[in-house]
Amino acid sequence: EITIQNLTKTFGSLVAVDEFSLTIEDGEFITLVGPSGCGKTTTLRCVAGLESVTSGSIYFGDHDVTDYPVQQRGIALLFQDIALYPHMTVEENMAYPLKLEGMSEEQRRERVRESAELLHIEDQLEKHPNELSGGQQQRVALGRSIVREPTMFLFDEPMSDLDAKLKHELRPLFAEVTETVGCPTMYVTHDQEEAMTMSDRIAVMNDGELEQVGTPDEVYNEPETSFVGEFIGRPN
Ligand code: ATP
Repeated sequence: EITIQNLTKTFGSLVAVDEFSLTIEDGEFITLVGPSGCGKTTTLRCVAGLESVTSGSIYFGDHDVTDYPVQQRGIALLFQDIALYPHMTVEENMAYPLKLEGMSEEQRRERVRESAELLHIEDQLEKHPNELSGGQQQRVALGRSIVREPTMFLFDEPMSDLDAKLKHELRPLFAEVTETVGCPTMYVTHDQEEAMTMSDRIAVMNDGELEQVGTPDEVYNEPETSFVGEFIGRPN
């Protein structure tokens, strides 16, 4: 499990994240929603170690990782920009993080094959990224992030550039992959339908603060603040 405890991040006089506390269980899928500028991306960047925290702590299990550099956290990060290496094949792209770790070629092949099967791209391994659709590219990016058996998934609007049809296709895949890997997942989205259909729990942020955390049913039917009531269910 991952515990975020009183996370605060300021930029000068701006409080981007204000005393944010949340525990995400193994295998749990939490979406983080809220208006533009409320601090979603900053929260994710602090948990990932891409941004230092102003105060507060982050624990992986009992381990305080607040001061760990990003590489040591073992997090699978996926953003809306799909940064695949264009000169490498799908297989090489997916195997690259393992190669950096010094894993043998045989083991790499095996691990990539398993991940590719999970993502239904096992017949695309010899292709280059420019021969793939946007949805397939995002599957490869997801594949590259799971081969290392991550401690946690952090997704920042990974599907926002994709069309509606691809989103529908990929939504269950995200759920399936994170469930199979079984680590905690935090997923930022602007898409209310995504939040309502993919999440175990939804965390609603406003102005740096966490307003409510609950199941989709709870935040929709029993909003704890007027802000949550107005925000959830509102058209995008
Ligand atoms: P969006 O939904 O538009 O992506 P967000 O909820 O992810 O927004 P953040 O990107 O986390 O919000 O930004 C929170 C606040 O912190 C905003 O007011 C933003 O302008 C500010 N901010 C973010 N990064 C920096 C930075 N590096 N320097 C200064 N201010 C920043």
